[in-house]
Amino acid sequence: MRLLLLSNSTNHATGYLEHALDTVLGFLDGAALTFVPYALADHDAYTAKVAEALTPHGTRVTGLHTAADPLAAIAEAEAVFVGGGNTFRLLDTLQRLGLVAPLAARVREGLPYMGASAGTNIAGLSIRTTNDMPITQPASFEALALVPFQLNPHFIDADPTSTHRGETREQRLTEFLEVNDVPVLGLREGTWLSVEDGTAVVGGAAVSSTAPGPAVVFARGAAPREVSGDVSDLLATTPRFDVTAMSQAGPTMSLEAFRADQEAAVDYGVSDPYER
Ligand code: ASP
Repeated sequence: MRLLLLSNSTNHATGYLEHALDTVLGFLDGAALTFVPYALADHDAYTAKVAEALTPHGTRVTGLHTAADPLAAIAEAEAVFVGGGNTFRLLDTLQRLGLVAPLAARVREGLPYMGASAGTNIAGLSIRTTNDMPITQPASFEALALVPFQLNPHFIDADPTSTHRGETREQRLTEFLEVNDVPVLGLREGTWLSVEDGTAVVGGAAVSSTAPGPAVVFARGAAPREVSGDVSDLLATTPRFDVTAMSQAGPTMSLEAFRADQEAAVDYGVSDPYER
């Protein structure tokens, strides 16, 4: 399996894909690209943007939305690139077109998969750690599951001088870990994850970060871990979603069970991520 999962497609002050161009071209190795534009509304314009960036370097780009038979187009693709945008819209569209399982199967068989941002989110187990708003409702949050963990693109460190009181990214990911025992790889802008032959490597250079990074792993019950280079240990993850009683309960839950669940969360020691 070959994956190139970019945190972002445009770095501050550079053109589309420019910051990762050498890596992208090396990854594609001359293959024609089937572009999946479903995370944005205007598929033609989005595909034209990708073509404008890559055609001058010899890469032929075709939008999946122009295929008469998208399933056949996936089956015949030489390489696929899933662009960023809204992750809920992207997954919803892939589900409605019946493309999730066929695409994942082909990537597991060796179809090179490149994702940026939303396209990186869906390479993980689920889209539960996207930064996006749920502007649409997919049938489930389960994604392509090409890697056995979660990704958080555009990862941004808290600014200690900020007066903003909304959640920091770390707080949001801590909340995910209260309910799920699944590591999350936070990719700062400018970075990416490459996966090839059972080896996972963080590449790129984080934009405007003072942290050692360039990426950071959040795991249940552990302090955030700055990572660089080889992160293949993440490929051996045993994910456990919905570990709280509430997330396992049916549509309703008794008050007693709810209170016991809250006490268990306090015992686990993560009841107040806002104290950090
Ligand atoms: N909206 C992001 C993107 O550019 C995805 C994310 O932040 O989760 O695709």
